[in-house]
Amino acid sequence: MFLKRLETVGFKSFAEKVTLDFVPGVTAVVGPNGSGKSNITDAIRWVLGEQSAKSLRGSKMEDIIFQGSDTRKALNVAEVTLVLDNANQTLPLEYQEVSVTRRVFRSGESQFLINNQSCRLKDIVDLFMDSGLGREAFSIISQGKVEEILSSKPEERRSIFEEAAGVLKYKQRKKKAEYK
Ligand code: ATP
Ligand code: MG
Repeated sequence: MFLKRLETVGFKSFAEKVTLDFVPGVTAVVGPNGSGKSNITDAIRWVLGEQSAKSLRGSKMEDIIFQGSDTRKALNVAEVTLVLDNANQTLPLEYQEVSVTRRVFRSGESQFLINNQSCRLKDIVDLFMDSGLGREAFSIISQGKVEEILSSKPEERRSIFEEAAGVLKYKQRKKKAEYK
């Protein structure tokens, strides 16, 4: 599985529609301070189900919608689509290519789609669980994360290995079954 494309409109500083195409291998994003590099990873985490505005460097979810600039007025909706190559079937879907979309309106309404079909946030979170690309997966190491891992308690650190090993899904299912 690899990230093929990111499309966004209205997300943070990306007022106009922006499409980023990726190829297998390493991609480096460079640019001056404040130009929107971190906003790209925020967009990826958000579409994968991030629910904490704080971890997206805002105070409320609405802060991720383009808030306007000197030359452009604010928008009322933010949308991000991630397209993944699924030729190796990492994601348990019978598609060579999988897209996930998330939209949020200023009214607070949210929409989620997998391959353009409406779904729940939970479906997106479940789809990526144990794939190595979930919202909390080890594939995104943000600033301060390395230190957090090193100074975390053994149990917390174990959950990182569990996600990497792909057993988190089974643990969560077990927990759910026990509560019933
Ligand atoms: P650095 O090199 O300092 O890490 P960066 O390239 O990672 O910078 P980002 O943090 O991605 O930059 O982008 C910050 C910019 O995004 C700021 O200019 C901020 O004003 C803009 N921004 C954030 N949220 C919004 C929003 N809702 N509407 C418009 N612009 C926004
Ligand atoms: Mg940054």
